[in-house]
Amino acid sequence: MQISSKQPNIGTTIFTVMSQLAAETGALNLSQGFPNFNCSPKLIELVNHHMKKGMNQYAPMAGIMPLREAIAQKTADLYQLNYHPNDEITIASGCTEVLYAIMTAIIHKGDEVIVFEPAYDSYVPSIELNGGKAVYVTLSPENNFAIDWNLVKSKITDKTKAIILTTPHNPTGKCFTQNNINSLAAITKNTGIFIISDEVYEHIIFDGRKHWSPSMHPELKERTFVCGSFGKTFHTTGWKLGYCLAPKELTAEFRKAHQWITFSCPTPFQYAFADFLKEPDNYLSVTQFYQEKRDKFNNWLKPSRFDWIPAEGSFFQMVSYKKITDEPDYDLAIKWTKEIGVASIPISVFYSEKIDNKILRFCFAKDDEMLEKAAEKLCKL
Ligand code: PMP
Ligand code: GLN
Repeated sequence: MQISSKQPNIGTTIFTVMSQLAAETGALNLSQGFPNFNCSPKLIELVNHHMKKGMNQYAPMAGIMPLREAIAQKTADLYQLNYHPNDEITIASGCTEVLYAIMTAIIHKGDEVIVFEPAYDSYVPSIELNGGKAVYVTLSPENNFAIDWNLVKSKITDKTKAIILTTPHNPTGKCFTQNNINSLAAITKNTGIFIISDEVYEHIIFDGRKHWSPSMHPELKERTFVCGSFGKTFHTTGWKLGYCLAPKELTAEFRKAHQWITFSCPTPFQYAFADFLKEPDNYLSVTQFYQEKRDKFNNWLKPSRFDWIPAEGSFFQMVSYKKITDEPDYDLAIKWTKEIGVASIPISVFYSEKIDNKILRFCFAKDDEMLEKAAEKLCKL
């Protein structure tokens, strides 16, 4: 049987490749972004409770109302932003589905989407599978991945349908500032360009930084899809639940796509999150929790020959290995998984042209014992 591939140049995602290799070789897995510790027992109790209560059938297509209300409340409390639970908030199967459903909803054949690279790996395939074209703005470690807004402006054409951004950013750990948001507003003023804002690490942001979303700019809010996920905030990446915040007209089109992609998401988990969100400390405490992890990991790495700038947010730390070797990052990530016993993600995979800046990404959403052990091995290099 022959199948004509719609993604002829795409292999298996790097996260699967590296996690599989780590499992096969018994390496410490600091590659794929997921915690190796459990979520709150309270959250597990809540899921059990709702399952036992019989909440086991289809949820409404847009998500259960108490969860949409809880998200509306949290967004209003934290950012003074109003999204109506009825028609501006939708629960989806993780941020991955949110992103895919947005692309499906907005892209017409030949439309362009501006993507900052390094870019999270699902963005470009989601654009291309929906008939769009990615237009790249390449960020570089030489200027600490700063965005040149004149360059972004120069990429805008009459085909530009959207700009996708990530804050806090995976893999660089960089966070948008208010100035960035203002620049984005200025260069897209009086255009109908949509902003797709991936904010899955919204609460994992360090050193007193404030999370800045394009939705906080009144003009941008009208054109912005905010993409969220409970996976990172609540240590539940395997539950695959996320959400989309967007003005009514955008949400209506989003839901038309979402209803054919998954229809609805697991019911008892939604009820559990609805209850859990009522206690703000459950999501606010994650900031300090991960800042401590970042600091511990960075401290344990201090005697090493790596160079790095501490992550501003996310649970990833990038390090440059230029002082150790000039081997290609992909080969090195494989080699060190096998020979040193620490798995990482090579950054070149997040660039369209596979630019190799000799940088690896380590995930520090791991227990202290694993982080210390990994750092000990890395310090010997
Ligand atoms: N966006 C970014 C930046 C991510 O790092 C991830 C990985 N968790 C996702 C989206 C996908 O999130 P989810 O697991 O909720 O699908
Ligand atoms: N977001 C996670 C990471 O960046 C992994 C998600 C996935 O495996 N698809 O590592």
